[in-house]
Amino acid sequence: MSNPQDFKLSVGEDTLSKYRDEFTIPTNKSMKASAVSEELLDKPCAYFAGNSLGLMAKRSQTLVNEEMSAWGTRGVEGHFDHPFDRNWVTMADITHPILADLVGAKESEVACMSTLTANLHLLLNTFYKPTKERFKILCEIKAFPSDQYAFASQVAAHGFSPSEAVIEMAPRPGEFMIREEDILEVLAKEGSSIAIVLFPGIQYYTGQHFPIERITQAAKAAGCVCGWDLAHAIGNVPLSLHDWNVDFAVWCTYKYLNSGPGGIGGLFVHKNWEGQPIRHAGWWGHELATRFAMPPQFNAIPGAQGLQQSNPSAIAIAALLGSLQVFRDAGGIKPLRKRSLKLTGYLEALLHKSEFWVPPEAVANNDNKVGFTIITPTDTSARGSQLSLLFFPSDGRVMPKVLEGLAARGVIGDSRKPDVIRLAPCALYNNWEDIDRAVTGLEEVLGELKKAQL
Ligand SMILES: *Cc1c(COP(=O)(O)O)cnc(C)c1O
Repeated sequence: MSNPQDFKLSVGEDTLSKYRDEFTIPTNKSMKASAVSEELLDKPCAYFAGNSLGLMAKRSQTLVNEEMSAWGTRGVEGHFDHPFDRNWVTMADITHPILADLVGAKESEVACMSTLTANLHLLLNTFYKPTKERFKILCEIKAFPSDQYAFASQVAAHGFSPSEAVIEMAPRPGEFMIREEDILEVLAKEGSSIAIVLFPGIQYYTGQHFPIERITQAAKAAGCVCGWDLAHAIGNVPLSLHDWNVDFAVWCTYKYLNSGPGGIGGLFVHKNWEGQPIRHAGWWGHELATRFAMPPQFNAIPGAQGLQQSNPSAIAIAALLGSLQVFRDAGGIKPLRKRSLKLTGYLEALLHKSEFWVPPEAVANNDNKVGFTIITPTDTSARGSQLSLLFFPSDGRVMPKVLEGLAARGVIGDSRKPDVIRLAPCALYNNWEDIDRAVTGLEEVLGELKKAQL
């Protein structure tokens, strides 16, 4: 078992810790942490829900205020003559180089637009061209519901029944992860009937990080088109979509990219597909030079940006941009990943020392004692900065009490019913003390539940 102290960076080594000050961290008081002592009420809470909604970068607030002021002082002129040098007509372009770095793409392969589910449909409409022989979508059984609904409605729109056309990969009985070898086996056996392979870069529930390059390679070798949902991967782990030959990808930006609730989404389409006809053309995908001449004929911007449809929200882009600037200043995702590995390793090592922790393989024998296991892989290459804790007795009673007890102590996790709490130490703003608080809080709450003989 690892020693927690081995993961801790010294003050001198922890060069990225200063970016915490770039964020507004809710206080214990504003998070209604009822069990926190009076003198700590105005101190920051320990926020571990950045995988669900990232915190607000102070720069985002400044940039959004600037957009409101630009609107208030310049009105429509802000499109072409913006007081802060962010003409609205080209504002999305400011984000493209930074997004391209984060996903490992060429700038022309990414577009900052719309929202995740809408972009998923857009790209499925583009890439899902089922034939009688090849019509299936290969995905995972516990996909985020929006993705599941998208797959089912897409196959139904082509006259297939989801039960026949959507293949859902599951973990083996008694396991929590979907094994790579099982995915490769399905591709080898059934690949010729599969049109689209679409997995999440990181699974939202378990935190499993799929081997994107190897699955993409196998999918394409079987003649499938391979797409990825990067909702929990972008801003969390390094990605090289271009080099990995990924066909397409979609993401949202309000999780690890901290763009705020309902923030603007994004997509990736590999350069190999440049020049494909665009099936849902809109004026924002038309080349800039003649966009405002509004010619009758659509002439797409080459690459992913030709898929842009509507003029995007300047306010939503400003909110995203504030956080992207912090990512850029911190040196991008590679150094952040190093810090995230340390923080997550530290959290895991402390949890493993808890009297309430049970190894995943022992779960079956432990179900009547109060405790938890970690269902996220221990292999660091198979996870990002999230650990998912599964509580027992697994009857849905313990988890809500733990979540509530943590929140009362100012430790903010996020839950997935019936039995899971996810804790995500974010490299940009969490620190060692947050993690100490989370583990101490967890032990206290579980101790109380044990005493109460729940
Ligand atoms: C967060 C998340 C979504 C959310 O979709 P929106 O369209 O942004 O509301 C979809 N899929 C996955 C896998 C997610 O994690």
